[in-house]
Amino acid sequence: MAACSHRQLTMPTGHKHKRPLLLGPWRRTFQWLTTLTIILLPWIQPGGVSLVRIDIPSLSLHLFGQVLRIQELYLLLLFILATGAAFLFITLVFGRVWCGWACPQTTLTDLAEWLARRCKLNILANRLQGALVHQIVAQVIYLLPALLVAANLLWYFIEPQRFLAGLVSGTLHPGVLITFLVITAIIYLDLALIRRLMCREFCPYGRIQSSFVDPATLTLHLPEEEKPRCIRCNSCVRTCPMGIDIRNGYQIECINCGRCLDACRQIMAKKNEPGLIYYTFGVDNRGAGALLNLRVLLLAVLLITLFSALTYATLARPRASLKVSLAPTAASTIVAEQQATLFTIWINNRSNEQQKYHLRTLSSAGAILEVRGHTEDISVAAGGNQQLRLIVITPVGTQAFVVEFQLLDNNLQQVATAQAHVRSTSNPQIK
Ligand code: SF4
Ligand code: SF4
Repeated sequence: MAACSHRQLTMPTGHKHKRPLLLGPWRRTFQWLTTLTIILLPWIQPGGVSLVRIDIPSLSLHLFGQVLRIQELYLLLLFILATGAAFLFITLVFGRVWCGWACPQTTLTDLAEWLARRCKLNILANRLQGALVHQIVAQVIYLLPALLVAANLLWYFIEPQRFLAGLVSGTLHPGVLITFLVITAIIYLDLALIRRLMCREFCPYGRIQSSFVDPATLTLHLPEEEKPRCIRCNSCVRTCPMGIDIRNGYQIECINCGRCLDACRQIMAKKNEPGLIYYTFGVDNRGAGALLNLRVLLLAVLLITLFSALTYATLARPRASLKVSLAPTAASTIVAEQQATLFTIWINNRSNEQQKYHLRTLSSAGAILEVRGHTEDISVAAGGNQQLRLIVITPVGTQAFVVEFQLLDNNLQQVATAQAHVRSTSNPQIK
């Protein structure tokens, strides 16, 4: 059968080579699109708030217009679980395609190797070989991507404009500056020394992924019936970044990059024959239908459930929160024949826009209580907190009472409430 297909595919001498379809340009485009997305995400700031940023001072995560606070841990947990399930699902269906096509470490390594070749260096067993002056030039050039990657990582914690302005003016917080220099040094060492070793030896994610491969997972494969056509040129082995010989069958180190497939197609195109290496679902080519198995379906259901729960919980949560506490040093005091009780109020704006709030204070009977302090047009930044001190006035001799605090938005719609139970002036209790 192999011989038959060989005869059918061999063209007469002098026939123009048919250009093979290569995956390399697609893979590189996808890698750079992913890299550009990672670099640009912190710069996209609708309403002045980054699309994705971890804000350390307020312990909150800005995520596509939503502000998730540390108090909303269940949302963060849901987000982490949903993201983890998505990665496992992709691995189950497409194998280690993340490693080969999107991982920033792979992109950085590809960039480091490309720069080394531009500097007239060879890469042998992950080592740069060539004239000393070329080696020095390559090491100096590696500092540039190292600086960019380190800055990019910090932009996910500090707005890029603020970071760059601080860096240029020399006013960056010393802790941030040291972190920036340490990350730059780590990335530089990665580019200069580690490169593919990270994927082969250290990356725990690669090992987790490998154990999640299914008999129907998309994989690169040289079918038994194609082996007689192999001309043993070794192109597929030389081009493999993981040092795999695909002719020996599937190996878990394979990152599905498709370089061996391209190499073989290019070699065989010179003989006007198709390549020998294919993407197949499972090493025994079970077809995409084999993915409809219990393992994949269960994970798909889990994935849909987690993302639905996350979407619902994020959209249905209150737009603001209100916390009330009795001021510890001055619960209730008699001032000018009135009983004054001091409260501390925290307002958290969970929306991605600046808001103006109003506070209303009611007794348990629903009567509006007299309050001293700032209760109108309380401005709170997007995702921000505002702390206030309020004095609630009650008749002298009031021993136990309930105060209900209502937070109203600018349209006087109630967005949050909190109650304070004051049992007595000496033993207050807050709810
Ligand atoms: S075997 Fe092929 S697809 Fe797998 S890592 Fe090597 S070159 Fe990439
Ligand atoms: S590139 Fe193709 S023809 Fe060359 S050794 Fe590999 S499988 Fe055989």
